Amino acid sequence: SPKIHAEKTYTIGTDVTYPPFEFANKDNKYVGIDIDLMKTIAKEEDFKVNIKELGFNAAVQSLQSNQIDGVIAGMSITPERKSKFDFSDPYYKTGVVMAVAQDSKIKGLSDLKGKRVALKTGTAAADYAQSQQKKYGFKTVTFDDSDNMYNDVVNGNSVATFEDDPVMKYAIKTGTKLKIVTKPAESGYYGFAVMKGQNPELIQKFNHGLQVLKKNGQYKKSLTVISVPKQ
Ligand code: GLN
Repeated sequence: SPKIHAEKTYTIGTDVTYPPFEFANKDNKYVGIDIDLMKTIAKEEDFKVNIKELGFNAAVQSLQSNQIDGVIAGMSITPERKSKFDFSDPYYKTGVVMAVAQDSKIKGLSDLKGKRVALKTGTAAADYAQSQQKKYGFKTVTFDDSDNMYNDVVNGNSVATFEDDPVMKYAIKTGTKLKIVTKPAESGYYGFAVMKGQNPELIQKFNHGLQVLKKNGQYKKSLTVISVPKQ
Protein backbone atom coordinates (compact mmCIF):
# COMPACT_ATOMS: atom_id res chain seq x y z
CA SER A 1 0.00 0.00 0.00
CA PRO A 2 1.22 3.52 -0.71
CA LYS A 3 2.96 5.25 2.13
CA ILE A 4 1.13 8.38 3.14
CA HIS A 5 3.64 11.01 4.05
CA ALA A 6 2.20 14.31 5.22
CA GLU A 7 4.90 16.79 5.98
CA LYS A 8 3.94 19.45 8.44
CA THR A 9 4.29 23.09 7.31
CA TYR A 10 5.45 25.72 9.76
CA THR A 11 5.12 29.46 9.18
CA ILE A 12 8.33 31.21 10.15
CA GLY A 13 8.69 34.96 10.49
CA THR A 14 11.88 36.83 9.67
CA ASP A 15 13.25 40.33 9.19
CA VAL A 16 12.89 42.24 5.92
CA THR A 17 16.55 43.03 5.54
CA TYR A 18 19.21 41.94 7.98
CA PRO A 19 22.20 40.88 5.92
CA PRO A 20 23.98 38.48 6.04
CA PHE A 21 21.19 36.70 7.97
CA GLU A 22 18.29 37.56 5.63
CA PHE A 23 18.18 39.80 2.57
CA ALA A 24 17.17 39.96 -1.07
CA ASN A 25 20.20 39.30 -3.28
CA LYS A 26 20.82 41.03 -6.61
CA ASP A 27 18.52 38.58 -8.39
CA ASN A 28 15.83 39.58 -5.87
CA LYS A 29 16.00 36.14 -4.31
CA TYR A 30 15.57 35.99 -0.56
CA VAL A 31 18.76 34.52 0.92
CA GLY A 32 21.00 34.60 3.99
CA ILE A 33 22.33 32.50 6.85
CA ASP A 34 18.95 32.26 8.61
CA ILE A 35 17.08 31.39 5.42
CA ASP A 36 19.68 28.81 4.48
CA LEU A 37 19.73 27.21 7.94
CA MET A 38 15.95 27.08 8.22
CA LYS A 39 15.46 25.57 4.77
CA THR A 40 18.27 23.05 5.13
CA ILE A 41 17.11 21.99 8.59
CA ALA A 42 13.52 21.60 7.32
CA LYS A 43 14.73 19.35 4.51
CA GLU A 44 16.87 17.33 6.89
CA GLU A 45 14.10 16.95 9.47
CA ASP A 46 11.27 16.36 7.02
CA PHE A 47 9.08 19.40 7.50
CA LYS A 48 8.09 22.34 5.30
CA VAL A 49 8.56 26.04 5.97
CA ASN A 50 6.68 29.05 4.76
CA ILE A 51 9.05 31.95 5.42
CA LYS A 52 7.45 35.38 5.86
CA GLU A 53 9.53 38.56 5.64
CA LEU A 54 7.69 40.61 8.23
CA GLY A 55 10.32 42.85 9.78
CA PHE A 56 11.94 42.08 13.12
CA ASN A 57 9.51 43.66 15.56
CA ALA A 58 6.48 42.58 13.51
CA ALA A 59 7.77 39.00 13.42
CA VAL A 60 8.17 38.91 17.20
CA GLN A 61 4.68 40.44 17.65
CA SER A 62 3.16 37.91 15.22
CA LEU A 63 4.75 35.08 17.16
CA GLN A 64 3.32 36.42 20.40
CA SER A 65 -0.15 36.65 18.90
CA ASN A 66 0.11 33.08 17.54
CA GLN A 67 -0.06 34.08 13.88
CA ILE A 68 3.19 32.30 13.09
CA ASP A 69 5.01 29.27 14.51
CA GLY A 70 8.52 30.60 14.92
CA VAL A 71 10.98 33.44 14.35
CA ILE A 72 14.43 33.22 12.79
CA ALA A 73 15.75 36.76 12.38
CA GLY A 74 19.17 37.15 13.94
CA MET A 75 17.20 37.11 17.18
CA SER A 76 19.31 37.46 20.29
CA ILE A 77 18.69 35.03 23.13
CA THR A 78 18.18 37.40 26.07
CA PRO A 79 17.14 36.60 29.66
CA GLU A 80 14.00 38.74 29.24
CA ARG A 81 12.94 36.97 26.04
CA LYS A 82 13.57 33.58 27.60
CA SER A 83 10.58 34.18 29.87
CA LYS A 84 8.28 34.43 26.82
CA PHE A 85 9.93 32.23 24.21
CA ASP A 86 11.67 28.88 23.88
CA PHE A 87 14.92 29.24 21.99
CA SER A 88 16.85 26.67 20.00
CA ASP A 89 20.50 26.00 20.72
CA PRO A 90 22.56 29.10 19.88
CA TYR A 91 23.74 29.23 16.26
CA TYR A 92 25.75 32.47 15.96
CA LYS A 93 27.67 34.78 18.30
CA THR A 94 26.78 38.46 18.53
CA GLY A 95 27.19 41.64 20.59
CA VAL A 96 26.07 45.29 20.35
CA VAL A 97 28.30 47.96 18.80
CA MET A 98 27.93 51.67 18.20
CA ALA A 99 28.56 53.02 14.69
CA VAL A 100 28.96 56.60 13.43
CA ALA A 101 29.51 58.33 10.08
CA GLN A 102 32.91 57.61 8.53
CA ASP A 103 34.11 61.20 8.98
CA SER A 104 32.65 61.57 12.49
CA LYS A 105 34.81 62.62 15.48
CA ILE A 106 32.56 60.73 17.91
CA LYS A 107 34.53 58.04 19.69
CA GLY A 108 32.09 56.59 22.15
CA LEU A 109 29.01 57.01 24.31
CA SER A 110 30.45 59.97 26.21
CA ASP A 111 30.41 62.06 23.02
CA LEU A 112 26.63 61.64 22.60
CA LYS A 113 25.33 64.27 25.05
CA GLY A 114 22.36 66.17 23.59
CA LYS A 115 22.78 64.37 20.23
CA ARG A 116 20.38 62.13 18.33
CA VAL A 117 20.86 58.36 18.06
CA ALA A 118 19.06 56.06 15.58
CA LEU A 119 17.63 52.78 16.92
CA LYS A 120 15.62 49.85 15.57
CA THR A 121 12.32 49.10 17.28
CA GLY A 122 12.23 46.09 19.58
CA THR A 123 15.86 45.08 19.22
CA ALA A 124 18.44 44.07 21.79
CA ALA A 125 20.65 46.92 20.51
CA ALA A 126 17.87 49.46 21.17
CA ASP A 127 17.37 48.02 24.67
CA TYR A 128 21.08 48.39 25.33
CA ALA A 129 21.16 51.99 24.04
CA GLN A 130 18.09 52.90 26.10
CA SER A 131 19.75 51.46 29.21
CA GLN A 132 22.62 53.95 28.65
CA GLN A 133 20.48 56.92 27.64
CA LYS A 134 20.09 58.56 31.05
CA LYS A 135 23.78 58.32 31.84
CA TYR A 136 24.93 59.76 28.51
CA GLY A 137 22.02 62.15 27.84
CA PHE A 138 21.28 61.45 24.17
CA LYS A 139 17.98 61.61 22.25
CA THR A 140 16.66 58.71 20.18
CA VAL A 141 14.69 58.11 17.01
CA THR A 142 13.41 54.65 16.07
CA PHE A 143 13.10 52.82 12.75
CA ASP A 144 11.50 49.49 11.84
CA ASP A 145 14.37 48.33 9.66
CA SER A 146 18.14 48.51 9.72
CA ASP A 147 18.59 50.21 6.32
CA ASN A 148 16.60 53.32 7.25
CA MET A 149 18.35 53.39 10.62
CA TYR A 150 21.83 53.38 8.99
CA ASN A 151 20.75 56.03 6.46
CA ASP A 152 19.69 58.37 9.24
CA VAL A 153 23.32 58.41 10.40
CA VAL A 154 24.85 58.46 6.92
CA ASN A 155 22.66 61.49 6.10
CA GLY A 156 23.66 63.26 9.31
CA ASN A 157 20.22 63.35 10.93
CA SER A 158 21.48 61.17 13.77
CA VAL A 159 25.10 60.99 14.96
CA ALA A 160 25.20 57.31 15.89
CA THR A 161 23.40 53.97 15.76
CA PHE A 162 23.52 50.75 17.76
CA GLU A 163 23.51 47.46 15.89
CA ASP A 164 24.69 43.87 16.22
CA ASP A 165 28.40 43.46 15.56
CA PRO A 166 28.29 40.85 12.75
CA VAL A 167 25.51 42.72 10.94
CA MET A 168 27.17 46.13 11.24
CA LYS A 169 30.49 44.70 10.05
CA TYR A 170 28.84 43.10 7.04
CA ALA A 171 26.97 46.32 6.15
CA ILE A 172 30.21 48.31 6.28
CA LYS A 173 32.02 45.69 4.20
CA THR A 174 29.29 45.90 1.59
CA GLY A 175 29.39 49.68 1.32
CA THR A 176 27.42 51.32 4.14
CA LYS A 177 29.35 54.50 4.94
CA LEU A 178 29.65 54.02 8.71
CA LYS A 179 32.41 52.96 11.10
CA ILE A 180 32.28 51.01 14.37
CA VAL A 181 33.68 52.89 17.38
CA THR A 182 33.01 50.61 20.38
CA LYS A 183 33.81 47.06 21.45
CA PRO A 184 30.85 44.65 21.42
CA ALA A 185 28.68 44.94 24.57
CA GLU A 186 25.98 42.55 25.82
CA SER A 187 27.59 39.65 24.07
CA GLY A 188 25.31 36.72 23.39
CA TYR A 189 23.97 34.42 20.71
CA TYR A 190 21.26 34.16 18.10
CA GLY A 191 18.61 31.47 18.43
CA PHE A 192 15.46 30.32 16.66
CA ALA A 193 12.38 31.12 18.78
CA VAL A 194 8.90 29.68 19.32
CA MET A 195 6.30 30.62 21.94
CA LYS A 196 7.11 29.23 25.34
CA GLY A 197 5.80 25.70 25.84
CA GLN A 198 3.84 25.70 22.58
CA ASN A 199 6.07 24.05 20.04
CA PRO A 200 8.61 21.80 21.72
CA GLU A 201 8.74 19.43 18.72
CA LEU A 202 9.77 22.25 16.36
CA ILE A 203 12.61 23.31 18.69
CA GLN A 204 13.67 19.66 18.94
CA LYS A 205 13.71 19.27 15.18
CA PHE A 206 15.64 22.53 14.74
CA ASN A 207 18.26 21.52 17.32
CA HIS A 208 18.62 18.05 15.84
CA GLY A 209 18.91 19.46 12.32
CA LEU A 210 21.49 22.02 13.45
CA GLN A 211 23.63 19.24 14.92
CA VAL A 212 23.45 17.27 11.70
CA LEU A 213 24.40 20.38 9.69
CA LYS A 214 27.34 21.06 12.00
CA LYS A 215 28.59 17.50 11.46
CA ASN A 216 28.09 17.32 7.70
CA GLY A 217 29.65 20.70 6.88
CA GLN A 218 26.38 22.31 5.73
CA TYR A 219 26.37 24.76 8.67
CA LYS A 220 29.80 26.03 7.68
CA LYS A 221 28.58 26.32 4.11
CA SER A 222 25.60 28.43 5.20
CA LEU A 223 28.02 30.80 6.93
CA THR A 224 30.18 31.38 3.85
CA VAL A 225 27.72 34.08 2.75
CA ILE A 226 29.28 36.22 5.50
CA SER A 227 32.63 36.48 3.74
CA VAL A 228 32.12 39.06 1.01
CA PRO A 229 34.97 40.68 -0.88
CA LYS A 230 36.31 43.89 0.70
CA GLN A 231 35.24 47.07 -1.11
N1 GLN B 1 19.71 40.70 17.37
C1 GLN B 1 18.79 41.79 17.58
C2 GLN B 1 17.65 41.36 18.45
O1 GLN B 1 17.44 40.22 18.64
C3 GLN B 1 18.28 42.40 16.29
C4 GLN B 1 17.57 41.45 15.37
C5 GLN B 1 17.11 42.10 14.10
O2 GLN B 1 17.15 43.33 13.97
N2 GLN B 1 16.71 41.32 13.15
O3 GLN B 1 16.97 42.17 19.00
